[in-house]
Amino acid sequence: MRDPTLPWRDQPFDRHRESCAGRLRVSRAVTDGIRVIVVGAGFSGLAAALALTRAGAHVRVLEARDRVGGRVLTRWLPDGTQLDLGAQWIGPTQDRMYALVAEHRLATFPSAAVGAPTLLWAGQRRTEPPAQAGRVFRLLDEYAARLDPAAPWQAPEATQWDRTILGGWLRATAGDGDTADYLGRLLAGGLLATGADELSLLHLLFYLRSAGGTGPLLGMAGGAQQDRIVGGPPALAERMAAALPPGTLTLATPVRAIAQTIDGVTAWTNTGRVDGDAVVVALAPALASRIRYDPPLPALRDGLTQRMPMGSALKVHAVYPEPFWRADGLSGVATSSAGPLTETVDNSTPTSPLGVLTGFSYSSNAAALREMSSEQRRRCLLDAFATVVGPRAGDPMELVEYDWSAEEWTRGCFSGALTPGTWSTYGPQLRAPVGRVHWAGTETATRWTGYLEGAVRAGERAAAEVLAV
Ligand SMILES: Cc1cc2nc3c(=O)[nH]c(=O)nc-3n(C[C@H](O)[C@H](O)[C@H](O)COP(=O)(O)OP(=O)(O)OC[C@H]3O[C@@H](n4cnc5c(N)ncnc54)[C@H](O)[C@@H]3O)c2cc1C
Repeated sequence: MRDPTLPWRDQPFDRHRESCAGRLRVSRAVTDGIRVIVVGAGFSGLAAALALTRAGAHVRVLEARDRVGGRVLTRWLPDGTQLDLGAQWIGPTQDRMYALVAEHRLATFPSAAVGAPTLLWAGQRRTEPPAQAGRVFRLLDEYAARLDPAAPWQAPEATQWDRTILGGWLRATAGDGDTADYLGRLLAGGLLATGADELSLLHLLFYLRSAGGTGPLLGMAGGAQQDRIVGGPPALAERMAAALPPGTLTLATPVRAIAQTIDGVTAWTNTGRVDGDAVVVALAPALASRIRYDPPLPALRDGLTQRMPMGSALKVHAVYPEPFWRADGLSGVATSSAGPLTETVDNSTPTSPLGVLTGFSYSSNAAALREMSSEQRRRCLLDAFATVVGPRAGDPMELVEYDWSAEEWTRGCFSGALTPGTWSTYGPQLRAPVGRVHWAGTETATRWTGYLEGAVRAGERAAAEVLAV
């Protein structure tokens, strides 16, 4: 029976399959005036749409949510405290993000940085990581420098690194179990929101290479956590969307299916169809695989998306009348080798007197927190904050949680990561267009993959790819 809410289900998808299967190579004589559908209005989709529009293409952006921005969301407290529930930081060498902030007349402010970070390591409080951690970072940076971030599978050691589980490599390399556990939490958790035993050494090396190494990735001032955007990243996404020609963007319209023929491409939504000459799918591969394709995607491309799950992080904010830890000489910035929170930061807004501590929990720790009742979880999180800054952390004005894994149109964060063994076999599929279907999203970036910067660069790369056909 026909379901009026799902018109795409009744369309004769198979009609053109014979005529285009196996020969979806596309050629166009002119790019001016081509019609491009962009799926997703995160930073990648918005960047693609702006680049295409500026090049003269007719663009339609279809976004599932009733807002733009994707993995960014900012909540405001009545006094103006800015709680960024999704992405929040940008840092040096993320040049496209700083350029967009300037172009759209926004500003940045530095992350709160008062005092030295604390390291909760094997029951001790330290200010410096153990010496063997520095040795592991140097080795990782040296290995990462040998990779081409556009083709990490081509490195001579790639196959071996791809079958090496990061956790096992750390246990063999770090010198002792505590350091291995700590580094696993910091690198697999803090960077990819996954577990060290779920990740290949090669994927971590690719990630490091794309950002320039452990220093730029892990640093606050001088690193990826240096600055925040006044108004939050959603303010930038909204301005990017507002710069698109009227009628370009349609919200609350998930794309359910994409059909392509030798003549064009159609995106099917719950309420109708949009036709174009090309489509840019600006989603994490795990989300892109939930769209139905006609003809079905090649085996290797589908195989890739089956092997690229989203990370699993919980980001929680505890709000206090003041950043009381500063008076005790504590920065609020901590990393930990055990417990539910791998990292905490002082996330207070400079224009507000309130103090904000933000904590991150990853992988199995995040899963355990999700299993708890909200009261158990609150207790567990506040105990963890108290370990960093003392018992006053136990009584916040507010505790704000947001779980991106529970979001239908995100399903995890910070980004998707290839599982062990996948780069070697499926790596070339990550960006390779399939006929008229082009892939964007931060996961396809070669520079700052997993970050807002990577999302923008990937969107602009996909736009250039469409225009170059
Ligand atoms: C808690 C958290 C903290 C983070 N911290 C940082 C940080 O500090 N700095 C940083 O740079 N990055 C950070 N990130 C990562 C950053 O948010 C992402 O790299 C970036 O937002 C990805 O952008 P994107 O456009 O590639 O994907 P997305 O933002 O996921 O955009 C995809 C869009 O597509 C939509 N969509 C999904 N399915 C469909 C469909 N079928 N049809 C139509 N639309 C669809 C979604 O609603 C979404 O709007 C963080 C992420 C999270 C969640």
